[in-house]
Amino acid sequence: MSGNHEMSLMYEEEELLTVKTLVLESFSHCEKMQTDIIEYSSDIKNDFIDLKKITTNLAEMAKSRSALIDTLEVIESKIDLDGTDEKKIPEIFDDVYNSILEEKGTNKSAEKIINAIDAYFDNETVASRDNDELQVTSTQESFKDPITKLPIKDPVLSNICNHSFERKTILEYLKKHHKCPYSGCGSSLTGDDLIEDLALKRKLLSLKVNIIT
Ligand SMILES: [Zn+2]
Repeated sequence: MSGNHEMSLMYEEEELLTVKTLVLESFSHCEKMQTDIIEYSSDIKNDFIDLKKITTNLAEMAKSRSALIDTLEVIESKIDLDGTDEKKIPEIFDDVYNSILEEKGTNKSAEKIINAIDAYFDNETVASRDNDELQVTSTQESFKDPITKLPIKDPVLSNICNHSFERKTILEYLKKHHKCPYSGCGSSLTGDDLIEDLALKRKLLSLKVNIIT
């Protein structure tokens, strides 16, 4: 491998690592933004649509970056180990890159943000249909944590079975058990299946406002 080529690959890898840091930082901003929208937005629906778009684009960027890093590694090893001619790199690059990209999953943080926004829209649709007394009672029941039976303050949602929990309690519970604690549910559950419960957070905030006013 010629020195020049090695340098240009290294340079690109360094840049890609910077991109990685930036993308990961952006995901944590998006995470923060989804709860800020619930608390402060005057147009939650559109802000969530925008946030979902941004997160999806960032996730695509993260995926391409990760595939590029892997492609560089594969190509470097093809040159070093298989003795592939460097001149052939442009020919093989696209094939290697595309096949790696195809196997890449979506970034976990991005997936959670997107799922939480989708769940918010789903639950909002259900809530707007439930206006009778009976439904209100059953909704209030779901404001309680199934383990401590105390009112939920910091809600998370199971992406598997749509049950809500107090964040701290369920994370502690899932260390020992690997299923939903709701009796009659018992869906297999891990911390990775928990997303922000944006709809419940919104409800709790509006209840708080109602109590104060
Ligand atoms: Zn459940």
